[in-house]
Amino acid sequence: MLNLPISFLFSGGGGGGVLQGTTCEAILCTLTAARDQMLDKIGRENMGKLVVYGTTSSNAVDPLGPLCDIAKDYNILVHIDAAYAGSAFICPEFRHFLQGIEGANSFSLNAHKWFLTTLDCCCLWVKEPSALIKALSTDPEYLKNKASDSNQVVDYKDWQIALSRRFRAMKLWLVLRSYGVSNLRNFIRGHVKMAKHFEGLIAMDKRFEVVVPRNFAMVCFRISPLMMGNANQKLLGEEDANEFNRKLLESINATGRVYMTHAVVWGVYVISLAVGATLTDYCHVNKAWKEIQEHAHTMQS
Ligand SMILES: *Cc1c(COP(=O)(O)O)cnc(C)c1O
Repeated sequence: MLNLPISFLFSGGGGGGVLQGTTCEAILCTLTAARDQMLDKIGRENMGKLVVYGTTSSNAVDPLGPLCDIAKDYNILVHIDAAYAGSAFICPEFRHFLQGIEGANSFSLNAHKWFLTTLDCCCLWVKEPSALIKALSTDPEYLKNKASDSNQVVDYKDWQIALSRRFRAMKLWLVLRSYGVSNLRNFIRGHVKMAKHFEGLIAMDKRFEVVVPRNFAMVCFRISPLMMGNANQKLLGEEDANEFNRKLLESINATGRVYMTHAVVWGVYVISLAVGATLTDYCHVNKAWKEIQEHAHTMQS
C-alpha cells in the first residue's frame, strides 16, 4: 500500500517490519542499533564522538535522496521519521516525497496519528533486521523453544525494547479491512483539501500569513508583523509578533473549543492547525477560523 522499496520488506528484500507502540520507541530502537553498528566500526572507547541530528517541527520534508547521499559519504545511518506524514504515502500523489528512501536504513510512521488507528501503533521498517536484533536481542535459557531454534519464526522480542508484545496488528488489520485502501486515501485527501481550504481563508485576511509551505494537512500560520488591515496599520517587530501570536494561541486554546499547537521556525513563532481527527469536517475548520479571527480582533482592539 505504501510501495516501499523491496529492500525494506520481508518478502525477498532482506528487510522487515514490526509494529511498536510509539515513534519514540521505534527511534530509540533504531538509534541503539545505529550506535552499536557504529561502535563496532570505530571502537567502544569512541562513544563520546557519536552525534545525532534531529530535524522536525513544521511538517517540512527533507530531500531524502541528496540527504542520504551525503549521509553515505560520511558514514551516517539514516532513520526517516514519518510519524505524521507517513500515512499520506498511501496516496500515489504524495509518494514523490519518498524519492531517495532506498538510501535510508529505516522508516517509521504512526498509524495512531493519521490512519484511524487508536493509540498506540507505530509501524517500523528496517533494511537490516540483523542490526536491530544484534543490539536488542535477549537469549536466556527460559525463552528457548523449538520454533526459535529452527529460525523459522520472527522473534519480535528482539526487534523492540520490551519482551512481551500487545496484539497491535489486530486493530491495524481491522482499519485496513473495514475502510479499504480507496476509503483510506479519500480520508487523507479530504483532510488535505480542508487544510487547503483553511489556507484560502487565511489568504483572505491580510492580518494573517502562512509562514512555511504546507505539505499535508497542517498549516503553520501567524499574525504577520505587518498587521495590515488594522485601523492603525501598526508595525510590529519580530519579537512583538512572536509574543502576540503566543498570546493569541493561548487565548484560543483556553476556550476549549479549538486546540492548536505551535512551533518556532527560524525564530518565528507559528501556530499550527492540523486537520486530522476522524470526524473533522469543513464546518469545524470554518468555526476554528472564525474563532481565530475573533480572538485576533479582540486582542488588536
Ligand atoms: C508525533 C511525532 C513523534 C512522536 O511520536 P510518538 O508516537 O508519540 O512517540 C515523533 N516524530 C514526529 C515527526 C512526529 O510527528
